[in-house]
Amino acid sequence: MFRVRPLPGEATASYSQRLADTYQLTLSQLLDGAGTTLTGHGTPPTAELHLSPAACHRLAALARIPLPHLTRALPHLALLGAAHDTEATARWKRLEVEQQPIRACTLCTRHRSHGTTDTAWIDRPPHPLVCPRHHQAAADPRLTSPIRTGTTPELAATHHTHQRLRRHLRAATAWTAAHAITTRWYDHQQHLTHRWHTRLNQLCAVNPHLTTTGSASPALLARDLVTYPETVVLARTLAILPSHRHHTTDDAIAFITRRLGLARLALASHDPLHTFLTHTRR
Ligand SMILES: [Zn+2]
Repeated sequence: MFRVRPLPGEATASYSQRLADTYQLTLSQLLDGAGTTLTGHGTPPTAELHLSPAACHRLAALARIPLPHLTRALPHLALLGAAHDTEATARWKRLEVEQQPIRACTLCTRHRSHGTTDTAWIDRPPHPLVCPRHHQAAADPRLTSPIRTGTTPELAATHHTHQRLRRHLRAATAWTAAHAITTRWYDHQQHLTHRWHTRLNQLCAVNPHLTTTGSASPALLARDLVTYPETVVLARTLAILPSHRHHTTDDAIAFITRRLGLARLALASHDPLHTFLTHTRR
C-alpha cells in the first residue's frame, strides 16, 4: 500500500477525501472503517471536517503518518474539541466564504494522490499561490479551475523571490504595506498600468474561464496575481529600506523606481507610497 502525503495547508476534509479515493471508498465508508462516527453532510470547499482527538489518531494510523506530522500539514486538524473526549467522531462544519479553502495545483495534487484525483483544497494564504513547477495559480474561489500562468513566467519566478522575502524579519509588515500600495495603484490605474494590462491580457488569452465567469471582471479576479511580481519587489525594497543609506524621501523613491524597473515614478503627495515613506522615515 502507498502513503497519501498531505499538501501543506490542506483542509482535513480534502485530505480525508483523497485518502478515501485511494482506497476506492467514500469518505463515510473510510471513517466508518476506522471506527469513526460521521455526523452531518458537507463537501469541500464549503464545509470542513472536524475530528475528535480519537478520530485524529485513527486517521493518522490509517494514513500511516505520525500524528504530529499530519497535524503540521493539516492546519485544522489541531483545532481539537474537548481533549477528554475519547469517542472517535467526525462532523461537518459549514464555512463562511472568506474561510473557504482554495484549490491546490491540480498536477501536484495528482502526483500526491497516486493519480486518483486532481482536486485538493488548501487554506488560502494572504498572497497569490503560484506553483513554479506546473505554472498554475490557485484561483479565486469564484473560479472553478486554476489559472494557467505559462504565458507569464515572471509569476513562477516571483514565487521564488517571495520565498526569500519571507525569511526577512520585516516580511509580513512590508508585504501588507506593498500589497495595499500596488492594489491602490492597480485600481486607480497608476504607474504600472501598461505592464499590468499586458500581463492581464496574457493570462486571459490562456484562461478563458477568467472572462466567462460573470460574477466579477477578469481585472478584479486576477488582480492580486497580476500585481504579484511588483508587490514582491516593492515589499522586498521596503523591507530593506531602513538599513539602506537613503536619507531623503526622494532618494528612497529613486531607489524604488530602479527596483521596479521604471524610468520614472512621479508620486503625488497623496500617493500611498509617498505617504508610507514620509510616515515611516521620520
Ligand atoms: Zn504543481
